[in-house]
Amino acid sequence: MDQIEETLDKGIIEMEPRHKVQAILTRCGDGRINEATFKFMQEEAGMAEYDLGATPPGGAWVFSNDAPKEAKEVYFNDQSTYDGLHEPEEWVLTVHEDCGKLKGVYGFDPSTEDGKKKQEEVFDKVTSEAYRFIADKGYTPKVYRYNETRLNPKTQKMDFEIVDITEKVKRIVEVGEE
Ligand SMILES: [Zn+2]
Repeated sequence: MDQIEETLDKGIIEMEPRHKVQAILTRCGDGRINEATFKFMQEEAGMAEYDLGATPPGGAWVFSNDAPKEAKEVYFNDQSTYDGLHEPEEWVLTVHEDCGKLKGVYGFDPSTEDGKKKQEEVFDKVTSEAYRFIADKGYTPKVYRYNETRLNPKTQKMDFEIVDITEKVKRIVEVGEE
C-alpha cells in the first residue's frame, strides 16, 4: 500500500460514526434534469439520503458495453468510494429522453417515428448492460428513466417525469442470461 492509499484509508476509518445512505446515483449531467432528479429522489423514490456519484454524459451509458473499458472502471472506482464512506446498497442508474450523448453515439433522431423506436432499443441495451455491470459488482441496481412530458410554458423547457423501469430491465437481463 502506498502512502496516498494509506492516508485515504485512515481518513475513511476515522470518520466515525458513519453516515449511511441508501444509494449512489449515476445520471447524465444534462442540466434539464436537475430539478426533476432532486424532487423525484426525495419525494417519490423515498431517498432523502443518497450520494450523487457522478454525472457522466449519457448517465447509465458509462457502465454499458459501448463505454470505453477504462472510463467504466475509472467511474466505478471513483463512485464506489462512497461505499467505504456511507455503505450504500443500491445503485441508481438513469437514462433520459433526448440525451445528446446517446443520440450522438447511436445516431438516432427521436423526433421521428423510426428514431423513437431506435431510442427504445438503445435504452433497453444500455440499461440492461449497465444493470449487469453494477449487479456483478455486488450492488442492487435500480433503473429510472426520464420521460419528456410537456413544454413548460414558464421556462420554455420540457418537463420530465421519472419512471421506475427496474423490473423491465431485470427481465431483459434474465432473458439474456438464459
Ligand atoms: Zn444526456
